[in-house]
Amino acid sequence: MCGIFAYQGGKTDVANLILSGLKSLEYRGYDSWGILVKKNNNAFYLKRQVGKIKKEKLPPIFSTEGFGHTRWATHGGVLEKNTHPHFDCQKQIFVVHNGIIENFNQLKQELIKKGHIFTSETDTEVLPHLVEELRKKTNDRLKIIKEIIKKIQGLNAVIFYFLNDSEFYAFKNSSPIVVGKNHDGIFLASDASALASYTNKVYFLDDGEILVIKEKNLSLFDKNGKPKKINFINLNYKVEDTLLGGYKHFMIKEINEQPKVLKTIVDTQEQNLKKAANLIKNSYGSYFIGCGSAYYASLTGTYFFSKIAKRHINAAVASEFSYLVDFLKETSLVIPLSQSGETIDVISSIKKAKEKKAKILALTNVLGSTLYRLADEKLLLLAGPEKCVLSTKSFTAKLGFLYLLAHILNGTFKKGQENLKKAKSIFLF
Ligand code: GLU
Repeated sequence: MCGIFAYQGGKTDVANLILSGLKSLEYRGYDSWGILVKKNNNAFYLKRQVGKIKKEKLPPIFSTEGFGHTRWATHGGVLEKNTHPHFDCQKQIFVVHNGIIENFNQLKQELIKKGHIFTSETDTEVLPHLVEELRKKTNDRLKIIKEIIKKIQGLNAVIFYFLNDSEFYAFKNSSPIVVGKNHDGIFLASDASALASYTNKVYFLDDGEILVIKEKNLSLFDKNGKPKKINFINLNYKVEDTLLGGYKHFMIKEINEQPKVLKTIVDTQEQNLKKAANLIKNSYGSYFIGCGSAYYASLTGTYFFSKIAKRHINAAVASEFSYLVDFLKETSLVIPLSQSGETIDVISSIKKAKEKKAKILALTNVLGSTLYRLADEKLLLLAGPEKCVLSTKSFTAKLGFLYLLAHILNGTFKKGQENLKKAKSIFLF
């Protein structure tokens, strides 16, 4: 799990802007980091370092653009030469990348034969050299990027930066990329919470789409290269939700936020819960799916439903769900639980369930996430950004929703509300 952050906009101290963007993504874990900033006359500042981002600041570089990456090494050791951004032979095309290019070795050998010089051990480095190679045949960037999307295998999020032309190209397959915009400029990140300090207006890229940023303008293309309208959504994050706010660390902050989260659910979700309960009532065969703590919430959900609503719902670990998809049909309901809405095993299970025409009712914390977009109906967990990798308030929120759903099905919603209010005061204060 690593981080990407990019900026193009008004002149500012870009190196430190990107550094703080990367810092806000560091909860995802990383072993090294790197930043590229464009300077005057097509010169650039490149800083790549092994280890954590330290407290001190980088030298101020007033510029209009740059990008950075926190790396979680998959190919090549944790060494400075393997940190991103990577570049082509001419140091004109730069790239940051999350994921794994499964066929990189074959591509690398072909490129080496054609004379490209590699300076790292990563799979990522094939990307700028591939662009460099394809540019010998055409100058049409969009065509080149489409070609690269076809050539690489695996789950990836990629941002290219063309130094001379000040252009960014971004695309993804499964790993998320989100773009945000405000009066100062355009921001790209691998996680929406990193944008909360700058804007609430965001767009989550779909697989295969290509996003271009040039001269502070955005354009979006579908996988065939046809222009598309960007439908921005307004994120429900507040800046203060993403900051420590006096707490020592995010885990304790998020534990303390549990009562507030439960209160919001109890007070505001009756209508949404009733709609969801109707879906459950009218389905024949329902399945909770989740990974890690979301699976434990699912298991607890099965007990709530049998004890309170006298209804059996299956619970499956998302990575094992493919063994059950043969039972799915149009009348089945799949209920995926995922805080981020990006859990790969959950997403791939949902895609299989959709092929079987089963209905999807998602419980997720992130508006606009892949799961949110794929689901027929959704319940937003309303827990606010959860930065600690360990699940706390989003787990409690899942239990709150499942408990109330079971009570709605049993016709005892009020009792459920009262009990949760009591639990909130007994256990959480
Ligand atoms: N596979 C790439 C590398 O090892 C990217 C890893 C990541 O997602 O951070 O550099």
